[in-house]
Amino acid sequence: MTVTLDPPGRFGVYGGRYVPETLMASLIELEAAFEAAWKDNTFRAELASTLADFVGRPTPLYFAQRLSRDWGGRVFLKREDLTHTGAHKINNAVGQALLARRMGKRRIVAETGAGQHGVATAAACARLGLQCRVYMGALDCERQRPNVERMKLLSAEVSACEGGTRNLKVAINEAIRDWVAHPEETYYLLGSAVGPHPYPTIVRELQSVIGIEAREQFTRREGRLPDAVIACVGGGSNAIGIFAPFLEDAVALFGVEAGGDSPDHGSCTLSHGRRGVLHGAMSYVLQDGEGQITGTHSIAPGLDYPGVGPQHSALKDSGRVKYEIETDATALSAFHELSRAEGILPALESSHALAFARRYLRENPGRCVIVNLSGRGDKDLPSIMARGARHA
Ligand SMILES: *Cc1c(COP(=O)(O)O)cnc(C)c1O
Repeated sequence: MTVTLDPPGRFGVYGGRYVPETLMASLIELEAAFEAAWKDNTFRAELASTLADFVGRPTPLYFAQRLSRDWGGRVFLKREDLTHTGAHKINNAVGQALLARRMGKRRIVAETGAGQHGVATAAACARLGLQCRVYMGALDCERQRPNVERMKLLSAEVSACEGGTRNLKVAINEAIRDWVAHPEETYYLLGSAVGPHPYPTIVRELQSVIGIEAREQFTRREGRLPDAVIACVGGGSNAIGIFAPFLEDAVALFGVEAGGDSPDHGSCTLSHGRRGVLHGAMSYVLQDGEGQITGTHSIAPGLDYPGVGPQHSALKDSGRVKYEIETDATALSAFHELSRAEGILPALESSHALAFARRYLRENPGRCVIVNLSGRGDKDLPSIMARGARHA
């Protein structure tokens, strides 16, 4: 058998660096800095102690006994909702903030959609004494006031971006513009496994702590591997983080995209997109016949993105990971079922993964699954209340 190795930064045809010349030097500097840091035991020890004491790792692998009985299988939850700031995004934010400090950068810029990545980045920067500016669409600032206030309390500057549809896309453009204008002192802290090389690799490595812990916790407890691992997919960071250590195992892997109000709409980049370039990388992209990026919708703000990480694109084509769709309605009903059965309010993003776990166990009774509970649901209470809290 001939093994073809992908060139660095490529996942088959996906990935790469589709960026203006002005960004190339910064990306090459970042690639070298990450490779050196990742091999350096001092850096790894500093990351490990920050993850332990500041983030709260390891997070538990929780056996959901009552939910398992209701769904007819065995459901384990990887509790990223219990991390500091309430979602997996902090794993990546502290890792990259430590890298920035090691590179001598004193100023961090980041983009945020719903504000979760902005809050995680602001917290990591405060912890390390780094200056932090977060770009956020003006509409998102209005919709996510509490997160804007949190970032400010953590001493980040928040820039509300006008222009376009006043959401994540314009925020990414503004953050990149800032980085290009101040490349010497600025570090761009990207929040998901997307963007030009080396970001998808950096984010995967930093989020793999989820899968490494889960695999170890599960095998220690059960003496075997699970039948399936399930995670929601927005840009794809929590999913690649839990999948990565299972890729060589005989374990089924499922990424769950957001179908919005019907499985034909939503933000199902891998299910409905086509190959294209978005935010510096070749990947699946939701686009119309002319290649214009199409609008997305999901009740889960973190899944509302028209792109996806390049490694997921390759994993879809190879068939190693199956990508499924759950809608606003099925995610909401899974939200209520977990809340009532286990006393845990999951994020609406994570509720998509739970909804698929329920469907999988209906079709495969008795199986054993790990669901990545990427975040807690407190941030989603206004959307949930608007839909009628008791409805299931
Ligand atoms: C941001 C977010 C997601 C989606 O991002 P990924 O990069 O796909 O993981 C999922 N769950 C929660 C709780 C989030 O905050």
